[in-house]
Amino acid sequence: MKYVDDFRRQDLAQRLSAAIRATADPQRQYNLMEFCGGHTHAIFRYGVQDLMPDNVRFVHGPGCPVCVLPVGRIDNAIQLAVEHDVILCTYGDLLRVPGSGRKSLLKVKADGADVRMVYSTQDALRIARDNPGREVVFFAIGFETTTPPTAIALQVAKAEGLKNFSVFCNHVLTPAAIQNILESPEVREIGSVSIDGFFGPSHVSSVIGSQPYEFFAEEFQRPVVIAGFEPLDIMQSALMLIRQLNAGRHEVENEYTRVVTYEGNRKAKARVAEVFELRRSFEWRGLGLVPYSALRIKAAYAEFDAEQRFAVPAVKASDVKGCECPRILRGVKKPTDCKLFGSVCTPENPMGSCMVSSEGACAAYWTYGRFRDAPAEVREASA
Ligand code: SF4
Repeated sequence: MKYVDDFRRQDLAQRLSAAIRATADPQRQYNLMEFCGGHTHAIFRYGVQDLMPDNVRFVHGPGCPVCVLPVGRIDNAIQLAVEHDVILCTYGDLLRVPGSGRKSLLKVKADGADVRMVYSTQDALRIARDNPGREVVFFAIGFETTTPPTAIALQVAKAEGLKNFSVFCNHVLTPAAIQNILESPEVREIGSVSIDGFFGPSHVSSVIGSQPYEFFAEEFQRPVVIAGFEPLDIMQSALMLIRQLNAGRHEVENEYTRVVTYEGNRKAKARVAEVFELRRSFEWRGLGLVPYSALRIKAAYAEFDAEQRFAVPAVKASDVKGCECPRILRGVKKPTDCKLFGSVCTPENPMGSCMVSSEGACAAYWTYGRFRDAPAEVREASA
């Protein structure tokens, strides 16, 4: 398939691998964080780490929006479905994320709550039109990629006067999270994790462009290369990061030029700006409260804001004991450092969010890498 197979060619992968080995300085370590779970998934699926020299290491970052959503927001969604008796619509991954007491939307659905999986915001609007006597809440989640469709759904609902539709907004922003990681004690003070450069997310950047990364590349003196999701994209981007680091540069470069531009998608950004504004702070799993890192619905659309319509409370809840998701999301630990990995916690029985989504680091390790890096007892139990 054009634009897919071309970026998976074995001969080119071997040539890129040789170029990386020839360029990487054997006297130094290169720790390169991929922010996006799509990259983590591709690295494992195609064995990209095996094509790197030993001193080039991928550090897995926050991953996917499902992974970074705190337990309290899952509890809020469960409350909406159970206590307010709404039709709660959301994307499939969110259904299995455990909330407090290991409850999930899937479990409350089994107990009778009206929770429905949708593939798009348009599905949620259709359900609202078909059920005028019921309140329909769309549990919106995602980085900048999925924000424009939510904005359009809100605009459509307003234009149609759809009184029974509202959005529980959990849209978060990528640049603020990368900045938070670079400001974290592990990176700045303790030095227990060193991140030398970043793979910029590809789908997110197709909306926001490459420009927003310039601030922290300059401020924190770390190079950023926006990388596509195919294995050759990731390898080419690794080579570009290594070249920058060797030269002492810290610039924003764009490997994914077939999709990403400097300014991004102006129409999509305009839609988002019409409907959403910045929250002063928002809690991320693993990062805590991050200033100006998420969006809320503007006053002009307040009648469609589920947080206001149902007075959704701020809920502080803890992760499952022993789950290392918060440290994995900050790049401090690997999934195989978690004692629950592969024994208590598997994709069929996830204990934390990183095991739920296929883009989560724990799910990627489980699917493609558990027999390589897992402790001996896990390998023996799985044999
Ligand atoms: S393996 Fe499971 S319990 Fe451990 S960090 Fe990953 S999601 Fe959490």
